[in-house]
Amino acid sequence: MSLSSLRRMWKNLGLAQTRCAYCLVPFTPETGVRATAPLCPACAEIFSPCGAPRCLRCALPLDTETPLCGECLRNPPPWEGIAAYGLYQGELRNALLRLKFGGEFVMASLLGACLSKIAPALPPDALLAVPQHPVHLRQRGFNQAHEIAKALHRQTGLPLRADLLRRTEPHIPQTGLSAAARRRNTRQMFEAASQVRGLTLWLVDDVMTTGVTMRAAARALREGGARETLVLVVARTPREASGEPQ
Ligand SMILES: [Zn+2]
Ligand SMILES: [Zn+2]
Repeated sequence: MSLSSLRRMWKNLGLAQTRCAYCLVPFTPETGVRATAPLCPACAEIFSPCGAPRCLRCALPLDTETPLCGECLRNPPPWEGIAAYGLYQGELRNALLRLKFGGEFVMASLLGACLSKIAPALPPDALLAVPQHPVHLRQRGFNQAHEIAKALHRQTGLPLRADLLRRTEPHIPQTGLSAAARRRNTRQMFEAASQVRGLTLWLVDDVMTTGVTMRAAARALREGGARETLVLVVARTPREASGEPQ
């Protein structure tokens, strides 16, 4: 019996079926395709990257054809590039919430696979997630951004270095402060290890809302001597819809 007829028989018996990582419905993947987080055709369609015009520096959705948003023009973020998979809405938001609040770690594989699709071809020296403060980490038990970075590490083989950045402040000072005072206060939110010197890094987060946290984390890496930081986020929140500051 030839290999192709054997495959056909296998498929007809339903043995080649796999479960969609998102909706859990069994389906038959295309032959030869073995994904770490397989998606059925309907979910693959829903989870395709967002092609809407966005700011080149912070991935904020833009109505106009200008390459940068007003905020990035006035106050450029402290990173060399950004890749954001989609907008914080619909099923992508749902998948992020299922990971963060439901502890569904299979979502981390799915979202890590999303990031691997938009990651640049040139690999970094290391990847790391925006760290959480130990108090928050104890409360939830895990850092969803780190889980996504871990999935990306498993899928790409790139070194994951959680030791390179430490969060020293649990909260972002927000109310009653001028923008300048807030910036001063967020300076000390993170501390980079001395080993970041000269490294090119991918800094991973689940959602970017205001970008304040990401700016503070990337600034700590830059001031620690990192050669280049590229930000990878699963979802970007349009600024108007910003809820809890991140
Ligand atoms: Zn599905
Ligand atoms: Zn921008």
